[in-house]
Amino acid sequence: MAGSSQVIPVPLVFNAPRRGLPPRHLADLDEEGRKAAVKELGLPAFRADQIARQYYGRLVADPELMTDLPAAVREKIAESLFPKLLTTVRDISCDAGTTRKSLWKANDGTLLESVLMRYPDRATLCISSQAGCGMACPFCATGQAGLTRNLSTAEIVDQVRSAAAVMRDGQMGEPGRLSNVVFMGMGEPLANYKRVVAAVRRITEPAPNGLGLSQRNVTVSTVGLAPAIRKLADEGLSVTLAVSLHTPDDELRNTLVPVNNRWTVAEVLDAARYYADQTGRRVSIEYAMIRDVNDQPWRADLLGKKLHKALGSRVHVNLIPLNPTPGSEWDASPKPVEREFVRRVLAQGVSCTVRDTRGQEIAAACGQLAAQES
Ligand code: SAH
Repeated sequence: MAGSSQVIPVPLVFNAPRRGLPPRHLADLDEEGRKAAVKELGLPAFRADQIARQYYGRLVADPELMTDLPAAVREKIAESLFPKLLTTVRDISCDAGTTRKSLWKANDGTLLESVLMRYPDRATLCISSQAGCGMACPFCATGQAGLTRNLSTAEIVDQVRSAAAVMRDGQMGEPGRLSNVVFMGMGEPLANYKRVVAAVRRITEPAPNGLGLSQRNVTVSTVGLAPAIRKLADEGLSVTLAVSLHTPDDELRNTLVPVNNRWTVAEVLDAARYYADQTGRRVSIEYAMIRDVNDQPWRADLLGKKLHKALGSRVHVNLIPLNPTPGSEWDASPKPVEREFVRRVLAQGVSCTVRDTRGQEIAAACGQLAAQES
């Protein structure tokens, strides 16, 4: 294994959660676990399905509102399966009401955020997998603050349930449906692997086992934890993998994405190819365009070459104009530089587009999800 002989102080060592996880919630459990929990409460087995239909099907998280259950049952399950996980601290909208950032407080006071973006043809929720992040990427606001703790499976799933209810109830324009979920909020999803994979299953399984989104419409974005990418490839899921590459060369990537000191560009791209092989899915490459840092024509050429070699046509590059974080001297690349970069990547036979940036004036844009509340 590459890197096994190196001893490098990478952020993984900071990745030990400092706070505990919340009490067990229905959404932490799979079907079997749910049935066992209901049995433990001395309730008949059919209640397990009934409760799950309320949560995943009707998007109800408060047992008080589950009126098809007898009051005594509601009380029992409230205590043992529905601890209050996330409380709204604030909702802020922008982009003419099509972007909405939610700041949540977990039951231990931990803050986390999610962002709902409505487009003409879809609605995408950007969710957090950890409170804070241990990966320490210098251009990312979340990375600067460090990791507070992992989120539980239910804390991840409940961000999605809540947004699905907002869409259904027409709290953001006409009633609609939440169609897409991206793990591009706070945290490194593959550093909270088990809970994230369980959450993906809850988000995508049909009711009564889950929220029923299409796996293809779920994107897991990672700094490039190569072994975890390979493991994810073997889960039998067809979610989209996004790799935050940000530069094709190790020298610069060692500083932009410090975990590169552990798994190099070549190793990350190998793992991405394995993912594409196993799942048949095209891999997304995320590339924040930082003026005079990673936006040179030669880097575009090298990026295109390396990606084409590793993945052929099974890759798509998303350029993200850098969203400058407070106190940083870095800025987004000028538009002509961006256009030239796209042209050169395309010239290598690799598809490439510039991502539209939403939520900038409410600090809901990429890398800004570091709650300033305290
Ligand atoms: N830890 C995961 C997911 C969270 S960040 C990852 O790194 O992929 C989601 C995307 O936003 C990543 O590609 C990240 O590099 C990018 N990002 C972070 N800060 C940014 C910023 N200030 N401007 C533009 N993109 C940023």
